[in-house]
Amino acid sequence: RYDECMEYKRSMIIYDLDSLIGVNQSESQSSMGTSTSSSVVHQALYIYVTSRFREAVIETNNKSNVEKWSIAVVRDPFLLKKFSQDVEFPKTDREEEEYKEEQRKEKELIKCIKCRDFFIENENKMGNCTYHDGFVYDNLSLELTKYTPSMASEILNLDEFEMIHYPQRKDEIDRRKGRFKYICCDSTVQSTIGSSAGGCKKGKHAMGVSSNKQKRSRMLTKDAIDQWENVCMENDEYNERWSQLFTNRSKGGFK
Ligand SMILES: [Zn+2]
Ligand SMILES: [Zn+2]
Repeated sequence: RYDECMEYKRSMIIYDLDSLIGVNQSESQSSMGTSTSSSVVHQALYIYVTSRFREAVIETNNKSNVEKWSIAVVRDPFLLKKFSQDVEFPKTDREEEEYKEEQRKEKELIKCIKCRDFFIENENKMGNCTYHDGFVYDNLSLELTKYTPSMASEILNLDEFEMIHYPQRKDEIDRRKGRFKYICCDSTVQSTIGSSAGGCKKGKHAMGVSSNKQKRSRMLTKDAIDQWENVCMENDEYNERWSQLFTNRSKGGFK
């Protein structure tokens, strides 16, 4: 039938790929969960149609009177994507957009608001991110004053500065340097330069919520940091724990 069609100067073939080729879907179980993979049923026929289709595209550019049109009808999304790629059919704007988004998820480095390390969206899995999810309190103050981790490290940095510039205050500052504790795990906030952030929780990396897609990624804005630290500040469980600490401390008679 294809040969007959080729006899004419002007012809058109319409391929119904869904019924001609068909798609096989198979599910497979792995440690990562269930994944579905699709494959072409009639491989030989598929190769035949794609090569015929490519020929048709070339021949329509011909200046002669020969017009050989090929039309493919596809419903299956997997088959549509595969076929368009294999015959190098120009992408629509939406497909181009989707392709870019997919590329971004595969390659773009995003800075995490929780651990401040880089991550890639498609490889972001449970347990990749180590962080503290609570606020910081000053264990030496009577009020057990609450701070965000950023505020605490700013104060510790200032202490370090003063220690060098006012050597007479060194001992006093030295005694206070371990005063900031994380409410989530009671670990001490380190002032030592170069100590990695670390944390008591493991989870997924997170990016800041920003309306501007370009801005959200590589640069960690103050807004994004504030957003995360506010979540930590307002954590109900930890505020409860902090009130308990405060009550117990007051009972001890230090007031
Ligand atoms: Zn913690
Ligand atoms: Zn992270």
